[in-house]
Amino acid sequence: PSALREVLIEVPNVRWDDIGGLEDVKQELREAVEWPLKYPKAFERLGITPPKGILLYGPPGTGKTLLAKAVANESEANFIAIRGPEVLSKWVGETEKRIREIFRKARQAAPTVVFIDEIDAIAPARGSYEGGRHLDTLINQLLTEMDGIQENSGVVVIGATNRPDIIDPALLRPGRFDRLILVPAPDEKARLEIFKVHTRRVPLAEDVDLAELAKKTEGYSGADIEALVREAALIALRRAVSRLPREIVEKQGEEFLESLKVSRRDFE
Ligand code: ATP
Repeated sequence: PSALREVLIEVPNVRWDDIGGLEDVKQELREAVEWPLKYPKAFERLGITPPKGILLYGPPGTGKTLLAKAVANESEANFIAIRGPEVLSKWVGETEKRIREIFRKARQAAPTVVFIDEIDAIAPARGSYEGGRHLDTLINQLLTEMDGIQENSGVVVIGATNRPDIIDPALLRPGRFDRLILVPAPDEKARLEIFKVHTRRVPLAEDVDLAELAKKTEGYSGADIEALVREAALIALRRAVSRLPREIVEKQGEEFLESLKVSRRDFE
């Protein structure tokens, strides 16, 4: 019973619109996850078998977790998230039980998206790691659970990794994670969309040109862009706090908002 309580079911609030770029990936997830969860009967009638498992792979900070949350939310599904490394460090001696519990919960709460972040930590290719008995059991349990997912039962597993190359090939067999989707680093157009998402609620001075920022941030991930915007906003806040009386800063008066504006200088 204690394990049961610790399986946290969430309803994420991320929407497709909160993710900049990645239009192809979103569409693929709509078709592979959202539609089957929302319209299982139609899939049955047409004899289409939706994937049970999807592996999102790509560089860090490119939105894999966001995508998994958004597809759960947009599918009106519950969301259970586990992190590979956490499973290893916290569940010592009871990993099998935990995995079983998670899938039981997922079935109970269906439709459910089970998200396994950094799945490479728990499912590296057998033989590629040391002292792997513990990991073997874990991988086997995961495979058993995935094989046991009934068609159209409303449970989908989404894994995420930066290292698809080290994942146990047994996980990629048909009926398991058989849909691989690349989540690439954002190009200039996608970076502009990401800047737009993250400045939605930030007061910007008129001299801020997001298109130019997108051009200048070659090599930045979505997470890097988010950090950049946050840092710029903090600089603006620091400036306001050091200049304005406390009442104004707390009241968020006109003058405060005005001085809080993030300007081009803050981004550079
Ligand atoms: P990791 O591989 O490090 O786990 P990830 O690919 O799962 O990273 P996320 O956790 O989804 O990346 O992204 C981290 C943060 O970066 C998000 O909370 C979000 O603020 C921002 N971000 C990343 N990609 C995007 C995007 N395409 N649009 C908007 N924000 C993004």
